[in-house]
Amino acid sequence: MASWIEALEQRFGRRPPPVSRVSTPPTLRPGTRVIVVGGGIAGSSFARQLLLLTNRENLPVRVYLINSTNCNYCGGLITDLALQTMQELLALDVPAHLVLKQVKSCIYVNQKGYVPVQLNQPLTATLRTSRFGVEGFDDSLKDRILEGLPGEYAEQLTSIEPTIVKQVLREGSGWRVVLSKRNPDKSFMEIEGDVLIMASGFRALNRPMMTGFQAAGGYVPPPTMEASVTEVDTSQAEFNYIGSRMFILDNLVPGAMLAFIPKGENWLTVTSLGHRMSKEDIDYLFTHPSLREFIYFPQASAHLRCHTICPASVYTGASPGFYGDGWAAVGDLTGYGRVLKDGYFASFLGTRLAAETIVYHGTSRSDFNRYYHAPLRFFAGDNRVGMTLFNWDNRLQQYPWFRHFLVKAARAEARRRPYGSSLHAAFRSLATGELSYRLTATLFVAGLLGHAALHPWDLAAGRGEDRVGAG
Ligand SMILES: Cc1cc2nc3c(=O)[nH]c(=O)nc-3n(C[C@H](O)[C@H](O)[C@H](O)COP(=O)(O)OP(=O)(O)OC[C@H]3O[C@@H](n4cnc5c(N)ncnc54)[C@H](O)[C@@H]3O)c2cc1C
Repeated sequence: MASWIEALEQRFGRRPPPVSRVSTPPTLRPGTRVIVVGGGIAGSSFARQLLLLTNRENLPVRVYLINSTNCNYCGGLITDLALQTMQELLALDVPAHLVLKQVKSCIYVNQKGYVPVQLNQPLTATLRTSRFGVEGFDDSLKDRILEGLPGEYAEQLTSIEPTIVKQVLREGSGWRVVLSKRNPDKSFMEIEGDVLIMASGFRALNRPMMTGFQAAGGYVPPPTMEASVTEVDTSQAEFNYIGSRMFILDNLVPGAMLAFIPKGENWLTVTSLGHRMSKEDIDYLFTHPSLREFIYFPQASAHLRCHTICPASVYTGASPGFYGDGWAAVGDLTGYGRVLKDGYFASFLGTRLAAETIVYHGTSRSDFNRYYHAPLRFFAGDNRVGMTLFNWDNRLQQYPWFRHFLVKAARAEARRRPYGSSLHAAFRSLATGELSYRLTATLFVAGLLGHAALHPWDLAAGRGEDRVGAG
């Protein structure tokens, strides 16, 4: 029989949005030219969804997808929600050869110890950009924009890469973009369009193209926080029992939520949110006492697969201005998705709404406000709870009594039932993203208070040790 916590997860777990059945006739003019700047997950997902909808309406359009082919951040963990949403909205699957690992369980770790946490749905580990001889998930999506569409659709999509959009200019009610690619006469190539979709991700921020676009269109970036990612070759580790488990590393580096994501027998992705990792951090993590039963790898930083730790950013809230007359931003640039988790899901959902708005409602600021922005607003309140949870955890993890108590309480749950209850569901949700942050925070509080009521003496354990970061 399912426990109450399984019933709760079943009842409140997020589901992929159903394919909408917009019943109004399309308003998009045949032959409309749509420029998409950026062919990452959001740009490709937008192009595919727009073409799926125009195919359904038998409405010819012209899509220009312009992408610079920089190596994108490693990472690439696809949650079950993102996978199902992709199947539902994009009619695409993750090809088997892209799957580097199916992550089936998780270990929560803090300075005081660890707790095994069962997952109720697998996570799919892929590489994002094609590298190391492995095809990347983001790249494979870009290659499959036209999959299943009639052959003549090839003419409706023009992919231009590798090239950098140097300038975005407003031309009357339309747009002109200037590329770094040159024409035979050596002038810079230019593309004109009626609608502009900005999908350039955070790497484009503060570049001249983006500052020009902000001035021309009124785009305002969302608030962001530091992050970083790297890939470690663990073949030289003294021992490695990571297996197919994902590790959530809570404040092993103060102020940061880190993760180990297995990509193969000798391959781990390390991500950090709230902190840019240094090589010293990597060496510290791979010899940390809380991880000693799983991996021991002194000088792991000498074995980074691309010899570097990529700096990155993640959004912590919503953009105050991500659409206007004739343009919209999609993907990370919107700040609308679940903070700290599941950028793929957010990109699939957001691009669907943007494409539907353009096909069925129009491309004015008020159309985007009503049909693109309004359905995404539910993220904002929950994200405030998510960021509060993140910040409070960072504060509390400085105190030995708290980290000790959290591990003890979670282990006590597992002794009663391996699947655990409140705290395990909260940890599980950090890995899978399946519950709202409101519910996750409630489960943390309930689990901690419940254990404190039954075992108040556990609160005293760990006192007397130094506070992390205390002088
Ligand atoms: C460290 C880290 C780990 C993450 N891990 C995960 C994860 O495991 N799972 C998950 O779901 N999400 C993860 N995310 C979030 C996820 O990566 C993003 O939400 C997602 O990539 C957003 O896609 P995007 O298309 O908006 O931007 P990007 O993926 O950044 O794509 C932007 C594209 O635009 C191109 N571009 C930029 N400027 C120009 C220009 N001037 N001209 C032409 N092209 C341009 C770039 O080359 C790129 O191809 C992670 C994020 C970080 C920072």
